[in-house]
Amino acid sequence: MNIKAFIEGLPKAELHVHHIGSASPRIVSQLAARHPDSKVPADPDALASYFTFRDFAHFVEIYLSVVDLVRDAEDVRLLTYEIARDMARQNIRYAELTITPYSSIRRGISAGAFIEAIEDARKAASSELGVALQWCFDIPGEAGLEAAQVTLDVALDLHPNGLVSFGLGGPEIGVPRPQFAPYFQRAIAVGLHSVPHAGESTGPETIWDSLLHLRAERIGHGTSCTRDPALVRHLVEHSIPLEVCPTSNVATRSVKSLDEHPIKEMVAQGVWVTINSDDPPMFGTDLNTEYAIAARLLNLDPAGIAALAKNAVRASFTDSSAKAALCAEIDAYTATALG
Ligand SMILES: [Zn+2]
Repeated sequence: MNIKAFIEGLPKAELHVHHIGSASPRIVSQLAARHPDSKVPADPDALASYFTFRDFAHFVEIYLSVVDLVRDAEDVRLLTYEIARDMARQNIRYAELTITPYSSIRRGISAGAFIEAIEDARKAASSELGVALQWCFDIPGEAGLEAAQVTLDVALDLHPNGLVSFGLGGPEIGVPRPQFAPYFQRAIAVGLHSVPHAGESTGPETIWDSLLHLRAERIGHGTSCTRDPALVRHLVEHSIPLEVCPTSNVATRSVKSLDEHPIKEMVAQGVWVTINSDDPPMFGTDLNTEYAIAARLLNLDPAGIAALAKNAVRASFTDSSAKAALCAEIDAYTATALG
C-alpha cells in the first residue's frame, strides 16, 4: 500500500488553516494580476521562487505582501473560493477556515461587504467544488483589545451562517490570554465555540489560561502541553482536541525538528490529536504532506491514518449528520483501498 497515494485520496477535514495564509502562488498570481501596482510578481514562475519557503522572516514577508493584495471585496471572494479549489484537489471535504476580519476592515473593506464575499464563496465552494467551509473569526492578538472589539462586533452584528467559532491568533509572547476573556464570554454566549491558539511559542501556562479564562474547546497548536503532566491529564479527561500543525511548528522554531515533535508523546498519553496545515503554501506544505509526516512520526498504517482523519471530523463543529457522513466516507474509502 502506497501511503502517499492513500493519503491523497483520503477524504479529510481540516480545522486549523488561515485565510490569508492559504494563498497559494496560483492564487497570489491572480490577485497580483488584479493589482499591477503591487510589488508581488504576477508571473507564476517568478512567484514560485518568491514563494519557496526559506525561514520564518520570509514567511512574514510573504504574508504581509499577500495582505496588501487583498484590497476589496472581490479579492476576498476570489481568495476564499480559490482556497476551496486547492482544498478540493487534496480531497479536503470540510474545513474551518480561520479568518481575521479586523485586517480587512482596517484596510477599508466594509464589514458587510467582507461578510457577503466570504459567504458567496462558501456557497459556491459547497455547490461547485464539494467543499464545506465554515469560519473561525480570530482576534489578531498583537492588535490588542481594539481588534478584539471589532472582531466581536462583526461576529455579533453580522453573524454569517458559516461562522462557528471564535479564535485568537498572532504572537503569544507578550499577549496574555486572560485579557480577552470578556470578548470570548460574549462570543460563547451567542453559541460560538472557543478555539484560541495557545502553547506553541509559550509554555503550558498559556494553555491553562485559555482553558480557564477563554473556555477553550479546542487548542490551536498546544505543542507545549507535554511539559505539564497535569495539563495532559486535563486535556485527556475533558476530551479537548489539539490542532497540531507539524511543519508550522518547526518553521516558527517552536519545535526544533519534525523528529523532535511532541506528537508521539501526545498520542501515547491519549491526547486527542488532529492534523492541520496552518499557513500551508507559505510554509511549503499542504494537508496531505502533514498527514504523511504524522504517519511517519506515529508509524501509522492506512487504518491508523484513517483514524487520524476521523479524529478531525469528530473534533469539528459541523453537525452530527455531516460528521457521520464524512466518517462513513472515510471508512468506505479505507475499506476499498485495503481491498
Ligand atoms: Zn494558526
